[in-house]
Amino acid sequence: MSTVRDLRPTWAEIDLGAFTRNVDAVMRRLPQGSKLIAVLKADAYGHGAVELARRCSPDRVAMIATALLEEALELRAARIALPLLVLGPLTEAQISNALDHDVTIGVVGPEELESVCRIARKRDVVIHLKLDSGMGRMGIVETELPRAIELIHAAPRLRIEAIYTHFANAGDPDDPYTAQQTQTFDRLLKMLRSAGIESAKHHLANSAATMRGLVSAGDFVRIGLSLYGGEPLDRGSSRLEPVMRWRTEIARLKDLPSGSAVGYGMTFHTSRPSRIATLPVGYADGYSRLHSNNGEVLVRGKRAPVVGRVSMDLVTIDVTDLDARFGDEVVLLGSQGKERITPEELATRTNTISHEVFCRVSRRVPRLYR
Ligand SMILES: *Cc1c(COP(=O)(O)O)cnc(C)c1O
Repeated sequence: MSTVRDLRPTWAEIDLGAFTRNVDAVMRRLPQGSKLIAVLKADAYGHGAVELARRCSPDRVAMIATALLEEALELRAARIALPLLVLGPLTEAQISNALDHDVTIGVVGPEELESVCRIARKRDVVIHLKLDSGMGRMGIVETELPRAIELIHAAPRLRIEAIYTHFANAGDPDDPYTAQQTQTFDRLLKMLRSAGIESAKHHLANSAATMRGLVSAGDFVRIGLSLYGGEPLDRGSSRLEPVMRWRTEIARLKDLPSGSAVGYGMTFHTSRPSRIATLPVGYADGYSRLHSNNGEVLVRGKRAPVVGRVSMDLVTIDVTDLDARFGDEVVLLGSQGKERITPEELATRTNTISHEVFCRVSRRVPRLYR
């Protein structure tokens, strides 16, 4: 934390110890023989992929998954030696690039499989093959299986290290769709097996499915949100330790008479003599404009409402009822004293999910690792 003085007073603290403990907590929930694929896509949901990848020891984390090839290459450039898996679609040029950097390709469809098999005429290629069990987004569907089988048979240097799929609604414990998807996946696996195509490893579960215990012994899991302390279930509390704490400081404090306007569009007027504090953070930092007149922050361990519009670089809050001072710490996400703002609270207020709340925290916000 020695560089804090050099930074703007708005930053996100990343608790590396909490991340490591979350990895351990996920491990404890896995059945015999199952292993963890840590999903560090989108810069580890805004937490910093390189820093967190350095905390992924090979005895705990079997693999790191990213969405983009660039994200995987950033980890390779930082000398991360763990196996890397790219979950997103790749062009043929990207596939060669991935192979040159020993990055495993999570083949998402017949087109990509065709490219991979073409390249596999000349070199060894290791892939994870994705099947669509009902998400309707990526993965090979049943009608495409015969073509996929043909391609695989014609590519002797292709090795399928794992076969995987993704759940569409595992966060809802009452939705039978998740069980249906597992059945569909098993049926597709059987069809592949009867064509002589098999893989020892499978992975289906994201954070939600893993927290619900929907992992078969030996299967790998792909976990993002839970490693960052987000709540993957629609109802319930399976949340692990929060990793990110986003804070700023009061940069301006003023007393306004009753009836004063605050912010763009004058959407808030004081209804009493009020003390308004201005924070040096805004929607360009990822504090959503949807928090305009619709948010709370923590000051002196208490909640203070956001008043007026969130602007690009500034937020105004009402601290009339608090003994707030210039320079006081203000927490946007995380705890202060006994109070806490969860990512789910920010998500609910802005009509999204905690994944997006984390990803929204922009590059302009320095990350401080502890
Ligand atoms: C992002 C992603 C995950 C991780 O999901 P969480 O809900 O964050 O655990 C797993 N699998 C795939 C294919 C993904 O894209």
